[in-house]
Amino acid sequence: MAQWNLLANKVLEGGFVTLDEALGILSSSDDELLEVVAAAYRVRYRYFRRYVRLQYLMNAKSGLCPEDCHYCSQSRIATANITKYPHKGHNAILEGAARAQHLQATTYCIVASGRGPTDGELDQLVESIGQVKDQYNLRICACLGILKPDQAKKLKEAGVERYNHNVNSSADFTPQFVTTHRYSDRVDTINLVKDAGISPCSGVIFGMGESLRDRIESAFALKALDVDSIPVNFLIPIDGTPFQDRNLMSPQECLRALAMMRFVNPSKEIRIAGGREVQLRSLQPLGLYVANSIFVADYLTTPGQAPAADHAMIQDMGFEIEPAMHGDPQARDREGSEMDRNVSLGR
Ligand code: SF4
Repeated sequence: MAQWNLLANKVLEGGFVTLDEALGILSSSDDELLEVVAAAYRVRYRYFRRYVRLQYLMNAKSGLCPEDCHYCSQSRIATANITKYPHKGHNAILEGAARAQHLQATTYCIVASGRGPTDGELDQLVESIGQVKDQYNLRICACLGILKPDQAKKLKEAGVERYNHNVNSSADFTPQFVTTHRYSDRVDTINLVKDAGISPCSGVIFGMGESLRDRIESAFALKALDVDSIPVNFLIPIDGTPFQDRNLMSPQECLRALAMMRFVNPSKEIRIAGGREVQLRSLQPLGLYVANSIFVADYLTTPGQAPAADHAMIQDMGFEIEPAMHGDPQARDREGSEMDRNVSLGR
């Protein structure tokens, strides 16, 4: 049996991949790519069968950010040609929820630029979220930056099930792309939302110039943080950002990075996030064998492919859009683990 299937067996039997094994995945050759993807699929199937979770993004506040994240078109140092606006009101947030449901997304991700929300912004958003929860069967994921403990508590009380705050890369590489906050600030916020009883979502941006070792360290950091959901972004080199000239990864390299993330975090929701169309290009469908979630429609300041193309891709691959769920996502993930306890290892 090929080494990648043996590695899948190890993970499916409850073992953990080592740093060297993770490096082996990232360093494997294009000739082995389909075997790596097929082995990662066995792990993905254990927890998520052939379901694909759809998430819909709302950029609730755009630009105007005092931070200097080099990958971001909304930072204070970016000159990107984007629309900038303060917090959207209730109607716009509700319209976004309607569109999310229309596109068969189960999670509505409300994102606001900035270091963190003011108390006024948070109170306004909490009211909007209450209306969304009253009217739609959607999981809410908020992404508002660095939080204070009382703000996390308010979001929990408002019905926010999930909070996203990406580690983005390794601790060592972080000062190479942001100087206005530290890696530890991000980790603190992830721990804060966990303490508030909110399901943590945290991911990465690959393709910023980090080493393979940085990619592996970020995957193991997310494992140690025990986050429930991991968005894997691939850099979109946006004109007007310091990273506008960064080289694209190859689509094969993107698949290896996704597979490494799956092997290190086998039971977690792994999403192909921003950059899917730009970096995976025509290999996007293969990514579904590894990841179990994608964003449908547009990203924060860049367009995604047409939702109909995403729906068609899922159908053409023989996958199925995951239907709306009830209950908190951690409970669902636990149910998934229980459900799959008896699944054969497929040897
Ligand atoms: S990633 Fe967030 S914190 Fe960083 S510049 Fe962009 S909006 Fe601001």
